[in-house]
Amino acid sequence: MTLLEQMLENTDSAAIIGHVHPDGDCLGSTLGLYNYIRNCYPKIRAAVYLEEASDKFAYLKGFGEIRHEPDGESYRLCLCADSSDRERLGKFVCYLENAETSLCIDHHITNTGYAAFQVVEPQASSACEVIFGQMDESRIDKSIAECLYTGIVHDTGVFKFSCTSPKTMEIAGKLMAKGVDFGNIIDGSFYRKTYVQNQILGRALLESITFLDGQCIFSAIRQNVMELYGVSGKDMDGIIDQLRLTEGVEVAIFMYQTGPQEYKVSLRSQNKVDASRIAAFFGGGGHVRAAGCTMSGSIHDVINNLSLHIEKQLKEQGEEE
Ligand code: AMP
Ligand code: MN
Ligand code: MN
Repeated sequence: MTLLEQMLENTDSAAIIGHVHPDGDCLGSTLGLYNYIRNCYPKIRAAVYLEEASDKFAYLKGFGEIRHEPDGESYRLCLCADSSDRERLGKFVCYLENAETSLCIDHHITNTGYAAFQVVEPQASSACEVIFGQMDESRIDKSIAECLYTGIVHDTGVFKFSCTSPKTMEIAGKLMAKGVDFGNIIDGSFYRKTYVQNQILGRALLESITFLDGQCIFSAIRQNVMELYGVSGKDMDGIIDQLRLTEGVEVAIFMYQTGPQEYKVSLRSQNKVDASRIAAFFGGGGHVRAAGCTMSGSIHDVINNLSLHIEKQLKEQGEEE
């Protein structure tokens, strides 16, 4: 029996939480757990708590039941998915604090081990891949498969990032066999954009700037521009992926303003720079090729601070070669 099954056998209530700014893997992993509990452990009182997410994920079963504010209920078990540290749990950390026990299921190399028990697999593509390994495959129905498939699709950039392994593809195949509508999931939740999302993507690309001899590219969106287009952080998914594909670029940086002198920064690297090391230095985290953090100062300050670290790593690489 897996650790997840053991903990579910021994509880009558469970809060399921993820990370701030929930993405496809966060939604897929938390709702996958929720639907699994609903089907296999109907006596457990369970609820998912997450910040508001993009409604492009509304096809996931249970999406409409997600609670967006702490509500004073208490649960004996807290399940945390796809969150590398306590801070990333945001305002829902109260469910971890008030629970008798907790289990964190994650795939971040920067995971701090904040729960009572953890299943952390840094080589896994996604939290959904780890969760698949914790579930009894015969009890995964189509709705659970849709959740897990969505998480894998999003964290692998549709099966192409370096975190995609033969095992990832085997799991995706097993989920496909449960009848998921893979074409619609990939188009609808990953590639489709609203008109304003396309506009902000275009603007970010138009205003992007390369530096360090074209090895780095960055683009920044200020709050007044976000207001002009009527977009929020969740409308800017995908911008970093297009920047990353610029020919000759080793490191791509995208940032959008979250407050006066404050930016949410995304970092992607091609094959030389350890992005998670840089993000962790600035209080964030993530993976070697994809990481993020929040930084303060002007756009200029942020780029200056990041470029020092990038340059240093590129130099170290050059010396090793
Ligand atoms: P993003 O650039 O926001 O898409 O994030 C890329 C990766 O880094 C994801 O796996 C995130 O979970 C992780 N990440 C982003 N921001 C942070 C942060 N502030 N702290 C820890 N991990 C982060
Ligand atoms: Mn995530
Ligand atoms: Mn993830």
